[in-house]
Amino acid sequence: MTAKLDTQTLRNLDQAHHLHPFTDFKDYAAHGGKIISRAEHIYLYDSDGNKIQDAMSGLWCCNLGYDQDSIKQAVFDQLQELPYYNNFFRCSNQPAVELASKLCELTPERFQHVFFTNSGSEANDTQIKLVHRYFDLLGKPNKKHIISRNNAYHGSTIAASSLGGMKSMHEQTMGLNYVHHIEQPHWYECGGDMSEAEFGLHAAQALADKIDELGEENIAAFIAEPVQGAGGVIIPPDSYWPAVKKILEERDILFIADEVICGFGRTGNWFGFETYDIEPDLVTFAKAVTNGFMPLGGCLVADKVSNVLLNGAGDFAHGLTYSGHPASCAAGLATMAVYEDTGIIESSARDLAPHFNAQLQSLVDHPIVGQVRSKGLFAAVELTDDKAARTRIAPDSAAAVYCRDVAIEDGLMVRQTGDAMIMAPPFVTERHEIDNLVAKLTVALDKTARQFG
Ligand code: PLP
Repeated sequence: MTAKLDTQTLRNLDQAHHLHPFTDFKDYAAHGGKIISRAEHIYLYDSDGNKIQDAMSGLWCCNLGYDQDSIKQAVFDQLQELPYYNNFFRCSNQPAVELASKLCELTPERFQHVFFTNSGSEANDTQIKLVHRYFDLLGKPNKKHIISRNNAYHGSTIAASSLGGMKSMHEQTMGLNYVHHIEQPHWYECGGDMSEAEFGLHAAQALADKIDELGEENIAAFIAEPVQGAGGVIIPPDSYWPAVKKILEERDILFIADEVICGFGRTGNWFGFETYDIEPDLVTFAKAVTNGFMPLGGCLVADKVSNVLLNGAGDFAHGLTYSGHPASCAAGLATMAVYEDTGIIESSARDLAPHFNAQLQSLVDHPIVGQVRSKGLFAAVELTDDKAARTRIAPDSAAAVYCRDVAIEDGLMVRQTGDAMIMAPPFVTERHEIDNLVAKLTVALDKTARQFG
């Protein structure tokens, strides 16, 4: 390890040389940020010695918190044995083979193949190439268009940000012209006077309408997160997924479930598609597959698609230097072992999630809270100055940004999207730590109410 640098030196060098993701470069160069120096259990420690409870599992990835010695040891051991070799040119390695097999074992029978990437973004790029190749091999080369949803997040490479429905990302990059966006199932924001059930059906109908508009013969796939995460933990109305499922069953269109956040337990089951009883043909995974400790993503491919791909002549023209990296796959295998051996996905859904939900629901009566929604260990608290009209308190999400900043200042790492406060605590969080989370969030809400009252 290199010698530790003092905080001021780190901040100076960081501001001088480091361009941060999703950050205002000018503002950061002027003001800098926090140096996170270590982590244990569910706590982060910054270089000033502050202790911060992580209510976000890192970036929705450290579902098992920051300890997990078995995962760290598996990476170390793998680096001793085979630190790198690629999976091109008819080569493979044991951790990649074992992890592919394990992921197929953990998912429904029809999933028997995996393509590895380094990230969720690359995995979604890969999905586009897989579905295009599938329809080309079937002799349906016009089926290239992809339908996604407003405010979806599918990553930040050019293809993945085109798939995503985030306006700010589209403003900065010219997207792919064969990706189309439809209504998101976000009742609180878009539902108007409709009931949640009515709005769920309305949002699902948008898919059928878009298919009719573009022509089924031109569409390759619909991509969706079971619960939109970065868009604001948008838990769809109960009527939404059954209606979408029916629409998809009646059309010749593939369904890609982006499980980058929902996968590995976040919604209370191993995968979000189980929580909502939906049947994807392809599944995108990343993040919690290694508990966030190593970069790894990938695509799970159902037989319907792989049977065609495996019969195609010639190479699939796609691959990454680190596809199936042995150390990342070793981390993935060790992570799967923790999920399976401890049963933590099941036990946290049974014991912790109801407590989390009940505690959060106590915030519904807070003067600036418009809605509390949660599924498993995934939640959003919407801020408003008018509970009936569901209006935002201040322009540019200023109230939620303020609330987030005071929470972090007070030792609670939460996030904000629009006017929603976002949480995705690690599954190893204890009940008293959930209570602490909600207590600190309440203090931040009180301060926000005073500031913007
Ligand atoms: N898909 C979803 C649903 C995500 O939430 C994310 C990241 O947050 C991605 C894809 C992109 O993953 P990555 O940041 O690993 O590229």
